[in-house]
Amino acid sequence: VCPTAALTEVNHTDKVWKALSDPDKHVVVQVAPAIRVAIGELFGMEPGTIVTGQLATALKNMGFDAVFDTDFAADLTIMEEASELIHRIEHGGTLPMLTSCCPAWVKFIEHQFPEMLDIPSTCKSPHIMLGVVAKTYYAKKLGIDPNKIVVVSVMPCIAKKAEAERPELTKDYHNNVDIVITTREFGAMLKEAGIDFKNLPESDFDHPLGKSTGASVIFGTTGGVIEAALRTAYEWLTGEELTDVEFKQLRGMEGVREGTVKIKDLDIKVGIAHGLGNARRLLEDIRDGKSKYHAIEIMACPGGCVGGGGQPYHHGNEEIVKKRQQAIYNEDRNKTLRKSHENPEILKLYEEYLGKPYGKKAHELLHTHYEAKERI
Ligand code: SF4
Repeated sequence: VCPTAALTEVNHTDKVWKALSDPDKHVVVQVAPAIRVAIGELFGMEPGTIVTGQLATALKNMGFDAVFDTDFAADLTIMEEASELIHRIEHGGTLPMLTSCCPAWVKFIEHQFPEMLDIPSTCKSPHIMLGVVAKTYYAKKLGIDPNKIVVVSVMPCIAKKAEAERPELTKDYHNNVDIVITTREFGAMLKEAGIDFKNLPESDFDHPLGKSTGASVIFGTTGGVIEAALRTAYEWLTGEELTDVEFKQLRGMEGVREGTVKIKDLDIKVGIAHGLGNARRLLEDIRDGKSKYHAIEIMACPGGCVGGGGQPYHHGNEEIVKKRQQAIYNEDRNKTLRKSHENPEILKLYEEYLGKPYGKKAHELLHTHYEAKERI
């Protein structure tokens, strides 16, 4: 169930079938990084079986007009988040900067630490960024009326359903994301459609929002977002090639971890927490002026999104979560490109539409704000 304990699971598969049967709609879908290492379990495969290619084929067979990858938008998030971190370090901005792609954790800080809303990154989460880009850049490129585009997100997460309805995210760009379904809901749809998932051939995601790097894949596990951001920040700050991209000191399953990454003459201190009890400890340290970190990654679910509330049930079995996590790292290792700023489709998006990372248009489209909420 959702780690915020604030949401009840609602099934939205009917909305997806309805959109797919409407000839007037252009229905695009995206799948989050953590799904490719877990959904196979719903079809009798071992935990940690990587089914990225089968996922793309299954979605095409279901009739989506375009099959995109949230990993693409995770690379986009890193372009913005690494820029924001560097900007805060160089211009005396608020530190530590906290990652913001987990909506359950964002909701947690809004309710529990409303006086600290200047510390999370202002970056929208990857699937919301993809929704925005689909209804602006992609719509313009293909000459499609954005009002006719329906964006469906397949997520490991129940909290993403509520996130897609946040007023500040829905008021512009034709709703960003229209429908969110979980890994389990998607598995049920595949079964309903009679798709033999296990034996599907592999295919690629569609373009221009389908190319991704290894940095984006590791978003699916605890520590991955901050590791991906550091791969890019390192090269941008030093102007040198980062040859060993694996920041192993940031990996693992301990509830709170920390590491120091040397970038030029700067020692960047990084904290990582998964599970909201662990997050609370780090936040109390920041509030009490005891925090020594420049950047902190927080994920609400134990293990990060691989252990998400919308994933195939693992009933608290950490071995299953670890196998999914290992598969995420294997998928990263198998990628030719492993740094977000090397993704050619991302570079093209900035060149053709967004301008500079963290620039005016990127800010307008890809960043958000948070609101203090009643303590619960
Ligand atoms: Fe959703 Fe991932 Fe956050 Fe869990 S860790 S609430 S799955 S975004």
